[in-house]
Amino acid sequence: MVRDILQGIIANNGSFVDSHEETFFTPHMSAQHPRITLVSCCDSRVQPHVIEPDPIDKVFTVETIGNQMASAQGSVDYGVLHLHTPVLLIMGHTDCGAVKAFMKGYEKENDAIKGELDNLKAALEPSVGTNAAFDEQLMENIWKNVDHQVNAALKRYRSLVAEGSLTVIGAIYDFLGALGKGRGRVVIASINGITDAGKIKSMPIAQGLAIDQCLGV
Ligand SMILES: [Zn+2]
Repeated sequence: MVRDILQGIIANNGSFVDSHEETFFTPHMSAQHPRITLVSCCDSRVQPHVIEPDPIDKVFTVETIGNQMASAQGSVDYGVLHLHTPVLLIMGHTDCGAVKAFMKGYEKENDAIKGELDNLKAALEPSVGTNAAFDEQLMENIWKNVDHQVNAALKRYRSLVAEGSLTVIGAIYDFLGALGKGRGRVVIASINGITDAGKIKSMPIAQGLAIDQCLGV
């Protein structure tokens, strides 16, 4: 098993080296130029290439369980304040195990995991009721968590947003197709805290874009 994994690492990287000319690396050999600071979940089903086919030098990725900023605030600050990415994208996802763990109770986890899940407290409500109610509440909590992270970011980076040098986008990567926009869709929940689909559509930055396919409920 591990030998297969090691073989995969060696072979896949070999293919990567073979398929990239040396000049591919030249523009980013001494500095990076990301356009997006992405806060997303560590979940292996969620990867930056759902929004950027080649994230190298384009996406400054910060991953935490439950896509919360608090346990990696320094990393998010680095992307926004030092690398000056014009966009901070906070991307939750369907079937988030961290949100589920929070709802089911996580007292038995070790202190490190508990500490990170504690960061979801302010946004979420613990679970009550039946399985059907759980799934519904899970989806609500996933939205609430994204909204909470977005609001925290808007507060933290208020001056950058006000001067127009940072746009904070909240979204949910929906690999279940639960939001009715197709499996794999990144559904936009908010832009700079605006959640109303009509208002988002009328924003200058949305003009001429096929944004309807990404706007949810
Ligand atoms: Zn997750």
